[in-house]
Amino acid sequence: MTIDWDRRTCARKGHVTYAPDDPRLRIRLHAQTALGEVWRCLRCGDFALGEPHGSGPAAEAPLVPRGKVIRDLFVLRFLAVERAVRGVFIVLVAAAVWKFSNSQDAVRRLFDEYLDVFRPVFRHFHYDLDHSPVVGSVQKAFGYRHSTLLLVAALLVAYALVELIEAVGLWYAKRWAEYLTVVATAAFLPLEVYELTEHISWLKIATLVLNILAVLYIALTKRLFGLRGGRRKFDEERRSASLLEVEESAGLAHV
Ligand SMILES: [Zn+2]
Repeated sequence: MTIDWDRRTCARKGHVTYAPDDPRLRIRLHAQTALGEVWRCLRCGDFALGEPHGSGPAAEAPLVPRGKVIRDLFVLRFLAVERAVRGVFIVLVAAAVWKFSNSQDAVRRLFDEYLDVFRPVFRHFHYDLDHSPVVGSVQKAFGYRHSTLLLVAALLVAYALVELIEAVGLWYAKRWAEYLTVVATAAFLPLEVYELTEHISWLKIATLVLNILAVLYIALTKRLFGLRGGRRKFDEERRSASLLEVEESAGLAHV
């Protein structure tokens, strides 16, 4: 199944029309109908009724993202949302760690009280709370020093910030954000693999796969680090996909 990204975007945002000064080009984009004048949309190529949204030299026409470029924008925005959600979640965890570091003793007392209450209940179901790994790791956390917890909270905030900056930049398809995402995500891949050797969970596997795909997808489609011709080729590709460019070369071929 192929998705017509151009028409879907036009349905949502409306068409983009432009009247170029060059009459040879103009005539290919313009028509008179019984309903009035129509102009070809620079995104989907359909004729849209009404005045053009802009006019001037062909070189100054808006560079409307089309086809593959729109699909790439869509993927980037999906990654942006995923990063934003993760960033907010990590901020919440950091806040919890920070709060915990300030009231470690009170939380420990509360935890021990609950443990006393629930111990008989769990024993009834043949579950020994004192040897449960969850209770064990919580009790271990009570042993952490205040400064260690603060450091963990600070590192989490720093990590969350990187995720949130990536999210904003990816949403607006900034090239620096694409570099940041590829570098930062790739840097954490060894840690994610190490995590999997410690304990396997579906969420961890899914995150690892998503991150590997994201790194490859962004680096290759955006031609980062000079891949597949680099920046020059990327700009060339975007320009050559523009409708004006297509019409211009078509028009010249017919002259
Ligand atoms: Zn359109």
